[in-house]
Amino acid sequence: MRYHSHIMTSLCIGAVTAAYTPLPFTASYTAGIIIGSLLPDIDEPKSYVGRRSLGMSHKVKEAFGHRGMTHSLFVWAVIAFIVMVESSSTFSIGFVLGYLFHIIADFLSVQGVPLLWPFQTKRYKIPLYRTGSALETVLFYGAFALLIYIGSQYHLFYEWWRSFLLLLRQWM
Ligand SMILES: [Zn+2]
Repeated sequence: MRYHSHIMTSLCIGAVTAAYTPLPFTASYTAGIIIGSLLPDIDEPKSYVGRRSLGMSHKVKEAFGHRGMTHSLFVWAVIAFIVMVESSSTFSIGFVLGYLFHIIADFLSVQGVPLLWPFQTKRYKIPLYRTGSALETVLFYGAFALLIYIGSQYHLFYEWWRSFLLLLRQWM
């Protein structure tokens, strides 16, 4: 899945999560989701984050291969644990969720992901779409439409905008 699809699908599931739980749909929550949803592809030098990782992605890919360790639920759990111990802010929660949503989205692709690395190198998948295919574009717009729908039904955009203004006021 391409980076803009990861951002859109993760924001969409993040909005659904905020709608049905006490989690607030704030600017820092969505910033966390976006960054978390991009990070797992640091193991691919040609990806959006890979091209901006100052050579780090080449090292990760050499060592573990693309869609290797960074797409493992075990690695996610370790990162989630460290992040949440450091800070349980809405940004951190968004980050941890965004990372998880990325793994789920790639799990639904033909290529699959090694969910249980390092215990197993087997790639797990429910092959719904192929990266870069027309179906991925459909998923992108579907997620966009659902995000707008959920956002307006549950007044999430109002909440988001208010938190954004509050953040701005803190910085100024
Ligand atoms: Zn990925």
